[in-house]
Amino acid sequence: MDWEYAPAPESRDVVTIKREYGLFLDGEFAEPKEGGHFTTLNPATEEPLATVAEAGPADVDRAVAAARRAYEQTWGAMPGRERAKYLYRVARLLQERAREFAVLESLDNGKPIKESRDVDVPLAAAHFFYHAGWADKLSYAGFGPAPRPLGVAGQVIPWNFPLLMAAWKLAPALATGNTCVLKPAETTPLTALLLAEVIQEAGLPPGTVNILTGDGATGRELVAHPGLDKIAFTGSTEVGKEIQRAIAGSGKRLTLELGGKAANVVFDDAALDQAVEGIVNGIFFNQGHVCCAGSRLLVQESIADTLSERLRQRLTTLRLGDPLDKNTDIGAINSRQQLDKIESLAAAGEDEGAQRWSPPCRLPEKGYWFPPTVFSGVSQSHRIAREEIFGPVLSVLTFRTPDEAVAKANNTPYGLSAGVWTEKGSRILWMARRLRAGVVWANTYNRFDPSSPFGGYQESGFGREGGRAGLAAYLNA
Ligand code: NDP
Repeated sequence: MDWEYAPAPESRDVVTIKREYGLFLDGEFAEPKEGGHFTTLNPATEEPLATVAEAGPADVDRAVAAARRAYEQTWGAMPGRERAKYLYRVARLLQERAREFAVLESLDNGKPIKESRDVDVPLAAAHFFYHAGWADKLSYAGFGPAPRPLGVAGQVIPWNFPLLMAAWKLAPALATGNTCVLKPAETTPLTALLLAEVIQEAGLPPGTVNILTGDGATGRELVAHPGLDKIAFTGSTEVGKEIQRAIAGSGKRLTLELGGKAANVVFDDAALDQAVEGIVNGIFFNQGHVCCAGSRLLVQESIADTLSERLRQRLTTLRLGDPLDKNTDIGAINSRQQLDKIESLAAAGEDEGAQRWSPPCRLPEKGYWFPPTVFSGVSQSHRIAREEIFGPVLSVLTFRTPDEAVAKANNTPYGLSAGVWTEKGSRILWMARRLRAGVVWANTYNRFDPSSPFGGYQESGFGREGGRAGLAAYLNA
C-alpha cells in the first residue's frame, strides 16, 4: 500500500515581507543614491516577493566610509568582552525569530522548510554563538598576545545558503574586531535584510555591518573599492578568479571559497543502508546547490549493482514540491538561470553516452524544478563528471582498488570535500591522507560545525572559515 502524506504547510504568516527594501547603511535603511530597484521572486511559484534596492558606486562609497568610521571610532576600539555581548545578542535574536527566518529563506531561495528550519537557521545562530565565545579570548588563540583586526572587510556571498553564508562571513569578522560591508546574491537578498533588522535590534554601533543589495556589478564595485582591507568571497570559481585578478597588488587580504566536484567513495565493506542515506544527503540536500555536494559517487565495482538498486528504491520515496511543506525533501531550483545550467549539463550527459534515470515524480507547473537525477555509465572525461552542476544530479562511476578510488577522486581541478564509506578505520585514515580535499567526511556527509574549519585546495579556493583557522583570516597576527 502506498502511504500518502497529508499536506503539512508551514504558515507564511509568521513573516511580514515589505513591498520594498532599502540598503542597510550606517545603521539605517536608506534609499540608493543612484541605483534602481530589482524584484526578488519565489522560485517555487515565480511570484514576486518584494523589490530591493540596487547599490551603485556612490552607495558602495557610503557603506565603506560608514564601516571605516565604525572601525576607527566604535567597534574596532571596543574590548573583545564588549563585542561578545553584541554577538551573543545577535545569536539569541536569531533563535527567537528562527521560524520567521526559516520561512523567509524557503520563500526566497526555494529550499525545503525542514532544511531552512533544521540546518540553515540553527547553524547561523551557532556561528554567532561560537564566535561570540572567541571575541574576548583572542589573546589566547595562539596568534600572539595582541592580534589586531584587519580593518574593513568586503564580503560577497552566493544564493545557496543566504543567511548561513552571511553568518559565516560576519560572525568571525565581527568577533575579531573588523567591520563589514556585505553583498548578498541578487536572487536571495531577503534574509540578509532581516538580519539587518536583528543587527539594529541588537544595538550594534552604526556602520559596524552594512548590507548592500545588488547584482554582480555591485559585487564588482565593492571588491574594487580602495577603502577595504580584506575581501571574503563565496561563489563560482570563475568569479573568484576575476576577483583575484581585480585586487592583485592592492594589498587587500583575500579568502575564496569556490566550487567543488566532490567524490563520495563507497567501499564494498560499507554499511550500505547508511551509505545510501549519505549519498542522498550528499547530493540531494538543498537541491544539490552545495559547493561540497557529493556529486560524483565512486562505488566499488563488486557492490555497484546492489547499491544502485537500493539507491533507486530510496529515491522513489523522496517528495518534491512546495518548499513550505514540512514533508518536502526536494524544493525548487533557485533561479531560471540555474535551471538552464542544470538542464544543459544533464543533456550533455546524455549526449556523451551516460544513462539518465529519475524516479517517477510530477514537477509543479509554475516555478523552477528539476527531478532528482542519477547518471550511470559515467566516465571521467564526461562533462557531468568534471563540471560543477550545482543541482540534484549524481554521476556514478566505479573503481576496483583503493588506489584507483584515490586516483579518480583526485582527478578534478577542485578540492573542497570528499566522503569515504567503509567499516575499517585504517582505510578511512589511509584515504583521508591521500584525498586532496579540504574536508573529508567518513561514514557521514555534509556535516557542518562552526568549530570545524571549512575550505578548499586548487580551484576550490583558499583560506578557511570556521574554527581557529577561520579567525586567522581576519587577524593581523
Ligand atoms: P557567482 O559566483 O556569480 O555569484 C556569487 C556572488 O558574487 C553573488 O553575490 C554575485 O552577485 C556576486 N558576483 C557576481 N559577479 C561578481 C563580480 N565580478 N565581482 C564580485 N562579485 C560578483 O555565482 P552564480 O550565482 O552566478 O552561479 C553560477 C555558478 O557558480 C553556479 O551554477 C554554481 O556552479 C557556482 N556557484 C558555486 C557556489 C559555491 O558555493 N561553490 C555558490 C554559487 C554558485 P549576483 O548573484 O547578485 O549577481
